[in-house]
Amino acid sequence: MKKLTYLTFSLLSVFSFAQEVSQERIQTVLSTLASDEMKGREIGTQENENAASYIAKLFKENNLEYCTGNSYLVPFTYKGKTAYNVCGIKKGKTYQYLGFSGHFDHIGTSNNSKDNIYNGADDDASGITTLVGISDYFKNKEPEFSMVFIAFNGEEKGMLGSKAISTDKNLDKIYNNLTALFNFEMVATESAFGKNALFMTGDEFSDLDELFNENAANGLKINPDPYAAQQLFYRSDNVSFVKKKIIAHSFSTVDMTKASHYHSESDDINVVDFDNLTQIINNFGKTLEKLSPENFTPKYNNSVKF
Ligand SMILES: [Zn+2]
Repeated sequence: MKKLTYLTFSLLSVFSFAQEVSQERIQTVLSTLASDEMKGREIGTQENENAASYIAKLFKENNLEYCTGNSYLVPFTYKGKTAYNVCGIKKGKTYQYLGFSGHFDHIGTSNNSKDNIYNGADDDASGITTLVGISDYFKNKEPEFSMVFIAFNGEEKGMLGSKAISTDKNLDKIYNNLTALFNFEMVATESAFGKNALFMTGDEFSDLDELFNENAANGLKINPDPYAAQQLFYRSDNVSFVKKKIIAHSFSTVDMTKASHYHSESDDINVVDFDNLTQIINNFGKTLEKLSPENFTPKYNNSVKF
C-alpha cells in the first residue's frame, strides 16, 4: 500500500511538472467564480463586485500591472451606479500587445425551487479561468508580446462592459498597440472537433486562425466556426473591438447541438471537463510563447463589416 501511494504520488508529481498550470489551480478559480456564494454574478449585485474583486486578487498574485489608474477595477456606469471591468497588464519584450478576455458576469438567480442559482460555470467562468490561466502560465516568464487581460462585466445585459472599456480613452495606449484580442466564451466542454480544440467566430474574416495553428503546440487546434449562420462574431464582446478595427475573435468549445445547460441552472461545475480545459490553457501558453510581432501579424480581409 505504501509503495502504491508513493508511485501514485510520483506519477502525480510528473504530471504536474509536465503541466505548467495545474488542474488544481484551474479547478479552484473556476469553482470559486461558479460557486453558489457568487449567486450568478449578475451586474449590479454585491456578488458581481465580489467576483470582480476575486479576479483582481488573482491578477495581483500574478504581478500584473494596472491598465489605468490605481486599480485593476476599471469603473463604468450601470443604471446610475458604478460597475467594474477588471483589467491587468503583463509587460513583454515588446510594446505590441496580445489581449485575452472573457466576461465574468452572468444572469443571477431564478425562482426554481430545486436550484435557483445560475452558476454560469461554462458561461463564462470558464473563459475567465482561461485568461487567468494564461496569466498564470506567464507569471515567471517574459513573453515577446506584452499582454492585456480583460474580464468584462455586463455582457449578459448587452455587452455593456466591453462597450465601456473599449471606448475608454485611458486605454488607448494599449489599444493602439493591440495586435489581436482572443475573447474566450464558453470553453468548459469538449468541442464538436474533439478535445484540445476550439472554434473561432468569424474565421472567414481574418487569418488569425491560420497563423495561430502554424505555431500551435501539442496538437492544439483552432477550427472554423461551425455555427457561422448564427453570426456569433457580431454577437459577442469581441465586436466592441472589431468596431475599432482591432483583430478580435471569440473562441469557444461549446457544442450548440448538445449545450442544454446554456442559460440554465444546470450550467455548474458538473459540465466542466477540467482535463481538457487545463490542457487547452497550457497549450495556449506554449503556443503564445512562440508568437512575436515578427511572426504573428493577423489581418482582416475585405469581407468584415466594421
Ligand atoms: Zn457568455
